Amino acid sequence: MGVRMSHWQELENRYFMHTVERIPLTLVKGRGAWVWDEDGRKYLDFVAGWAVDSLGHCHPAVTGAVMEQVQTLIHTSNQFYTIPQIQLAELLVQHSCLDKVFFSNSGAEANEGAVKLARRYGKCCRDGAYEVVTARNSFHGRTLAMVAATGQDKHQQPHLPLPVGFVNVEYNDIEAIKAAATKKTCAVMLELVQGEGGVNLPEEGYLTAVRAWCDKQDILLILDEIQTGVARLGTLFAYEQFGIEPDIMTLAKGLASGIPIGATLAKNGASVFSPGEHGSTFGGNPVACAAGYATLKFIIENAIAGNVKEVGNYLASGLEKLKREFSFITDVRGGGLLMAMEFSSDIAQSVVMACLDRGLLVNRLKPNALRFMPPLIIGKGEVDEALDILEQALSGPVA
Ligand SMILES: *Cc1c(COP(=O)(O)O)cnc(C)c1O
Repeated sequence: MGVRMSHWQELENRYFMHTVERIPLTLVKGRGAWVWDEDGRKYLDFVAGWAVDSLGHCHPAVTGAVMEQVQTLIHTSNQFYTIPQIQLAELLVQHSCLDKVFFSNSGAEANEGAVKLARRYGKCCRDGAYEVVTARNSFHGRTLAMVAATGQDKHQQPHLPLPVGFVNVEYNDIEAIKAAATKKTCAVMLELVQGEGGVNLPEEGYLTAVRAWCDKQDILLILDEIQTGVARLGTLFAYEQFGIEPDIMTLAKGLASGIPIGATLAKNGASVFSPGEHGSTFGGNPVACAAGYATLKFIIENAIAGNVKEVGNYLASGLEKLKREFSFITDVRGGGLLMAMEFSSDIAQSVVMACLDRGLLVNRLKPNALRFMPPLIIGKGEVDEALDILEQALSGPVA
């Protein structure tokens, strides 16, 4: 691409394992929906740390809570009670259909906790059932077990053999779940909208059918809301929009506005861990939980989900307008502030670079698709700016 590497980028090249193809941009500062690079250039951020920076960059509610907590108590062991984790747990339970919470440090870990819990349930209540049925094109994280849960060859092939106990079936196909299930099945694990796997929406009736069937079989339904939860789709949790409730739900990404956190939530009937069966050194860390509590409280008290719905619709109609303008845009889909735009050919990377040149960060979802996931506090004016830049980028020599 002939891009000159900066000092920091050269050092990275020397010292890092290259697990990600980086965009040649070193970010040094962020405020709201904007970030700045090392040369002081400003960018509108429609990636938001992969749907993590819910309240935007350095929101005062979050920085205030973190600063106060780091000056009060940074860490202690989970053998002791600490207040921020209890406050966050209470808020999560009060505002969801779940009853109990376990905190970890990431999405993959939250899902590991969910699967361990489901296996524990299988052992104690379902004759030793341990298998989990998951969907193709799902994404559940990067630990070995979650790679097995993630139904994508590109994530599985480099790491074979994978841990046993996972069956990947076609998404949006209840019959495929029924066919894959055996006496050994303890849970079905799904995303409500598949995020990393393509922003794929559930078909009408799929989720309610899965829920009803799981109930009949006494199989747990785990909803991975790591990307869709915490107002990303325009309701505090996405399950609210689909008329179902999970037995176990996982959260991470947007929960603490950028401070690492994971949460595994369960209904009382599925909360079957006994002391010692699961744990984490850092999980429930006071600083992370203070950030989570501040984020969630702000989202609830300021009706941020309503903003997501409104601004999300505005973004969607802007993207639809571009689809009518450019014949090589084949699809616009998503919900809330999680949207995708698909092209008839593999131009996503050049569109990403053309947007970058003009001061907009967007995510290459697939070789032929982009993903938009700005902070949840974004306004229509910023959406207009992003749409303008995207239009210019699409008008250039990308297609
Ligand atoms: C990002 C993501 C994960 C993994 O989260 P990490 O924090 O990267 O481990 C799991 N599930 C879904 C749906 C995700 O979007």
